[in-house]
Amino acid sequence: MATNRVELDRLRGLEERTTANGIQFERIDQAELRRREPRIVGLGGLHVRSTAIVSYTSVVRAMAAEVTTNGGEIRLGERVVSVREEVDQVNLETDRGGMRARRLIACAGLFADRVAKWCGIEDDFKIVPFRGEYYRLGSEKNKIVNHLIYPVPDPALPFLGVHLTRMIDGCVTVGPNAVLSLKREGYSRFAFSAADSLETLTYPGFWCVMRQNLRSGSDELPNSLFKTRYLAQCRKYCPELRASDLHDYPPGVRAQAVMRDGTMVHDFLIRKTRRTIHVCNAPSPAATSAMPIGREVARQAVALAA
Ligand SMILES: Cc1cc2nc3c(=O)[nH]c(=O)nc-3n(C[C@H](O)[C@H](O)[C@H](O)COP(=O)(O)OP(=O)(O)OC[C@H]3O[C@@H](n4cnc5c(N)ncnc54)[C@H](O)[C@@H]3O)c2cc1C
Repeated sequence: MATNRVELDRLRGLEERTTANGIQFERIDQAELRRREPRIVGLGGLHVRSTAIVSYTSVVRAMAAEVTTNGGEIRLGERVVSVREEVDQVNLETDRGGMRARRLIACAGLFADRVAKWCGIEDDFKIVPFRGEYYRLGSEKNKIVNHLIYPVPDPALPFLGVHLTRMIDGCVTVGPNAVLSLKREGYSRFAFSAADSLETLTYPGFWCVMRQNLRSGSDELPNSLFKTRYLAQCRKYCPELRASDLHDYPPGVRAQAVMRDGTMVHDFLIRKTRRTIHVCNAPSPAATSAMPIGREVARQAVALAA
């Protein structure tokens, strides 16, 4: 959904990539946008009918059931504290004991760099945590939109841009933004870990990212601190929203891999050793694409075993 000329150009770029990736869409003009979404303003948009919202908890429960019915074991609440790769096996130490494996596939999200380092993977990237904060609209706004509404993303910073999402329980959320988190799994606004912060703040790549994104970075923090600033972003395309419409909603923390030279990794980053595979960067929409990513990782694991 586009609101100015720069965004119309970006929309054209998005349209080209959508076509190149074989995704079915319909280009809609301002009048059609108004007809389909009377409470949204914009110059036009792309309507992708295959866009949807699911209960990801239910998806994960179904995946877990597949694992256990096929003889797998899921151990929850157990933290891996070290990994040692030997010639013929991998030894994992956990906070409840240990285990041995012939091979290891590590998908450690916010801790992917630390787990990869234990296995001797080159230390040329680090996970920088960015909190994504949301608000929920009051139930009287449940019908404010008929579709999921996304502003046109800046291709350099695709995760920025608060969107309106009709959730599976019928409520509508606004978000997320992107602010540096001072703790890797820090879900409260003031969560802080001295060790995590020191690791981020002493990493040269982090400062390169900050320099390259000074403008958007310096906008995001006040937008996070002041509801009215946050609101201004969504009012660009949904002008009826007021600060009183925004209610608290739990945030998420993105695991963003950043290379030592400050390049933000926007694609998947998978690294390997002789007996281990590490999913080091799996940015959004990696939850949506979990199954094809899993197939690719499985293919690589089979190749490793050969
Ligand atoms: C705000 C926000 C909005 C998003 N929106 C979308 C969206 O709309 N669509 C979409 O497709 N994606 C979305 N994503 C992205 C999606 O959540 C991620 O791409 C995906 O979760 C990455 O999967 P992963 O398995 O690599 O990591 P994770 O899902 O982070 O899983 C890693 C797991 O490893 C565990 N772990 C880490 N270290 C250890 C250890 N030492 N011992 C034991 N366990 C460990 C963690 O506890 C965690 O459970 C969003 C993310 C955020 C933050």
